[in-house]
Amino acid sequence: MIYLDNAATTKMFEGGADIYKKYACQSFFNPSAGYNKSIELAKELDGVRELIKRRLGTTKGSIIFTSGATESNNLAIIGSKRNGKWEYVFSLGEHPSVYNVARFLESQGHIVHFVGLTKNGQVDYEVLRRVVNDKTRLISVMHVSNETGAVNDLVKIGEIRKERCPQALLHVDGVQAFCKLPFNIEDFNADLYTISAHKFHGPKGVGVLYVKNPSGLKNIVYGGGQEGGYRSGTENVPCIMAMKYAIENIDVEKNYQYVKGLKDCFIENIEKADGVSYLQTESPYILSLSFSGVNGETLMRALQDKDIYVGVGSACSTKKAGNRVLESMGMNIDEIKSHIRVSFSEELKLDDIQKACHEIIDTYYTILEKVK
Ligand code: PMP
Repeated sequence: MIYLDNAATTKMFEGGADIYKKYACQSFFNPSAGYNKSIELAKELDGVRELIKRRLGTTKGSIIFTSGATESNNLAIIGSKRNGKWEYVFSLGEHPSVYNVARFLESQGHIVHFVGLTKNGQVDYEVLRRVVNDKTRLISVMHVSNETGAVNDLVKIGEIRKERCPQALLHVDGVQAFCKLPFNIEDFNADLYTISAHKFHGPKGVGVLYVKNPSGLKNIVYGGGQEGGYRSGTENVPCIMAMKYAIENIDVEKNYQYVKGLKDCFIENIEKADGVSYLQTESPYILSLSFSGVNGETLMRALQDKDIYVGVGSACSTKKAGNRVLESMGMNIDEIKSHIRVSFSEELKLDDIQKACHEIIDTYYTILEKVK
């Protein structure tokens, strides 16, 4: 198998599965109970919070464990909402777990602005500068686009916020960046940052919301008051500890360089083929391609018969939602229909990339012949 859909999810580390079993079957205690074994476990969770903050490049703020990025994004946005004159700003490139929350705010009568993307997939910074104002409560933008691999210039966005709306909170969906790109959160001063474990070889169903100043956040789940009251419900200790294992076993800088080599090799192999075009974006983990005259879904299905797996837009979005991002970049309907996404992991070898490119080109021309 050649798995090229690592932006949808990654294979969990085997060592993480062993850790999961340990915390599910041996150290299975409820971290909120009062006996020593539970108190020890609560301390271990605090250790994971510190580790995540260090990885983000900060000592400040709090880590809230959630059921994944969808919940973290909902908590960040709905939890920051205030009644009254406030306005909310989102990019049109956001994942449905942000975009659909924005639509929900709109349906509740809040003023919501959507900022389009430039043709390279980044937020249009000039439009952003124009729409924010002294009534802006929250700006929510993603770090890396799950559709295209475009990396937003968060330092620039942080500067726009500082200059035009210092009262606004900055939320960043960092799902495709954390444990993948080297960065320091203090460089852009995000108030809220979303992480999902299954995108970096951790388990599914666990995520994090980093909050610089928790007193500005309101809970959206009511219950026993775990996670400082911001997210009630017994913590998913086995998954949190398996996520910790993944974080500890990822060398961000080394993987970045290696995966960059994979993406370069992929481009070198595929760009020679007639009818194939690709988007030049900054993240080495994601590459968006168009195959002129062929439907991306048809290509994806034909490739699965050869045990090669690629994505067509976000696995967790409808086809229509996937179009929203590409449309905002000015792509026409034919380019969108013929689009596939390949996404890499450091577990791939150069051989896999060469073989995949060969098969993709071959499959593309075979389909093209048939549809002619
Ligand atoms: N944001 C982005 C940018 C994503 O790529 C994803 C996963 N496709 C999510 C949020 C949702 O993550 P989760 O599966 O943890 O809910």
